[in-house]
Amino acid sequence: MMETNILVIEDSITIRKEIIETLQTHSIATCYHEAGDGLEGLKILLGSKIDLVVCDVEMPRLDGFRFLAMVRAREELRDIPILLLTGKGDMDSKVRGLEQGASDYITKPFDASELVARVKIHLKIKRLQDELLRANELLLEISHTDHLTGLYNRRYLMDILEREYPRTKRTGSSLSFLILDIDHFKDINDKFGHQEGDTVLAHAAAVFREQLRGYDTPVRFGGDEFVAVLPEASLSDAMVVAERVRKALAQIAFSGKLEKVRISASLGVAVYPSAEVATVEDLIRAADNALYRAKARGRNCAEGPTLAA
Ligand code: GH3
Ligand code: MG
Repeated sequence: MMETNILVIEDSITIRKEIIETLQTHSIATCYHEAGDGLEGLKILLGSKIDLVVCDVEMPRLDGFRFLAMVRAREELRDIPILLLTGKGDMDSKVRGLEQGASDYITKPFDASELVARVKIHLKIKRLQDELLRANELLLEISHTDHLTGLYNRRYLMDILEREYPRTKRTGSSLSFLILDIDHFKDINDKFGHQEGDTVLAHAAAVFREQLRGYDTPVRFGGDEFVAVLPEASLSDAMVVAERVRKALAQIAFSGKLEKVRISASLGVAVYPSAEVATVEDLIRAADNALYRAKARGRNCAEGPTLAA
């Protein structure tokens, strides 16, 4: 059974125990927490992983409504189901509670089977909702990732540049862009086959990523081309990174069939602000031009812009 934590907030110790015992009898949760008022309940909610809350309306200090308001105001607690305990004839509290974000209500004195049924259904909804959220997160990650290398893909690169470029413009800092292309990569494919070629790409990508900072974005731009967005990096910072990446790639030792293989890469660097860059496309083009010059210079080297920034 999956771990399930239920929090019961109720100022009457007798009712609190009754609720917990009822739920325990039906093995609804693995762990029960209890609190005598909303404030105590909120502390528990913030300190532990709670899957569902049963909460009284009338309590000293922080009552059920104020508790609801405080929980719903917090992003990380927003999706936890809260079942309000209301008086039998108290339609006002029921309606107000639901309007303020309660998931459901249970009338006091409560009917054991109704309590169990309502708690069960809300736990189930919560579980389905969690699964959906996880599935969406996974899909989002997949949609941003290059399958072979695990680097970000081109689509994500454009998202990042569209975020970072205006930000850099606004803050007056600098944004560097680095592009690399493995030298004579076709030879590796020709000699060892596409599959081994893939292994080389994946290994190179991992080394590339290791050479960057946490807030840089490493991307597989296509084929044997990788790029990185380096926020807050000046041209000289980026040239240092490029040189470091170049050296690290040249030092990779492969194993198995690829044991004798050595790779190198040519790199191009561009920076914003600079005379040649007025758009995101310019930035990419400028780096690509620098890469072209690096290839022309004889490969296994890094080139920056021709014009001084
Ligand atoms: P250069 O030094 O001019 O870069 O020479 P190169 O041989 O590396 O030429 P280029 O960069 O133009 O070619 C890249 C090659 O990478 C072409 C393509 O066959 C190969 N390639 C592209 N994508 C993949 C892939 O996913 N896996 C493998 N194994 N090869 C790929
Ligand atoms: Mg190449």
